[in-house]
Amino acid sequence: MPVSLTDSTSRAGLSERVLQLVQGGIVVLDSAHRIVLWNGWMVPRCGRAAARVRGHSLFDVFPELRGSRVEAAVLDAFAGGAGGPIPPAESRTPFPLREAGSFDGPRIDQAITVTPFDEDGERHCLIEIRDVSGTVEREKRLLDHAESLRARSYVDGLTGIANRRYFDVALDRELRRAQRAQGNLALLLIDIDSFKAYNDHFGHQQGDACLATVARALAAKLKRPADVAARYGGEEFAAILPDTTLEQARVHANAIREHVAALQLAHAPAAHWPMVTLSIGVAAFEPQRLHEAALLVAAADKALYAAKKGGRNCVMVDAG
Ligand code: GH3
Ligand code: MG
Ligand code: MG
Repeated sequence: MPVSLTDSTSRAGLSERVLQLVQGGIVVLDSAHRIVLWNGWMVPRCGRAAARVRGHSLFDVFPELRGSRVEAAVLDAFAGGAGGPIPPAESRTPFPLREAGSFDGPRIDQAITVTPFDEDGERHCLIEIRDVSGTVEREKRLLDHAESLRARSYVDGLTGIANRRYFDVALDRELRRAQRAQGNLALLLIDIDSFKAYNDHFGHQQGDACLATVARALAAKLKRPADVAARYGGEEFAAILPDTTLEQARVHANAIREHVAALQLAHAPAAHWPMVTLSIGVAAFEPQRLHEAALLVAAADKALYAAKKGGRNCVMVDAG
């Protein structure tokens, strides 16, 4: 269909106007990498008018692009490559672009797409630049938030020490490490004695406060960075002690038991002992017998049961 001159002229005007209005950078290079098109979005963000850059090589205008992913993508597009989005790698700010009118603010985070095309028998390359600063900022906030959720999901809300979920993950990890290194690993299961009587006498709220006090005392006695103190459930706690033999763990468990008894936290009249005390069961990793979390926990639990039977406020080790 014939197109009248006025039509195509007004359409060219329209294209030109839209190009200036687009909310993103549009740069077109000819085959010698000279800038043939530079839209209005670019101007206030890099402080260069189209008339100043037109006809100059992009890499003369922005020497820092030499050797960058942008240069590599442009060279590839001119060499017959298909173009496409440049994957965001270490730098999200390859072009020295800032918020419109700002000369010393931070650079805009950029998503860049390179598209080769042929015009008048000559290869050209379209570079589109989108401002993704908001997205990057949002992404960072989401990551921070996810990280804090993850951290919180491993902490027991009442006592502030690790929770059962963390305990399960940590015990598996340490067991695998012990298997690999043929090392030692001990587990303590710790139960507050006569705690039902404590609650009955002092009330549940003071029971909660007592749990927090015992948890702090336990955590304070575990000094190595790899040791883990966790609330196993209810009034039961657990300690994972890497690089610790059964005998060393027994000595350590006894120190924890003595430490808590020495706090002299008043107990209920119906309790076995006049102060808050702990019974502790101890087991240690054995490559042939106690090599899985469930087996190690069962062995420590059995020893804990023996400590209860043995009068409470004492430590028993796995009997094998
Ligand atoms: P034993 O010496 O044999 O361990 O006796 P016990 O009374 O400590 O054991 P039992 O398992 O009969 O009771 C445990 C009590 O711990 C009962 C429960 O109300 C209390 N308990 C469990 N979790 C919590 C908690 O989060 N807060 C409070 N205040 N009490 C709790
Ligand atoms: Mg219990
Ligand atoms: Mg108990």
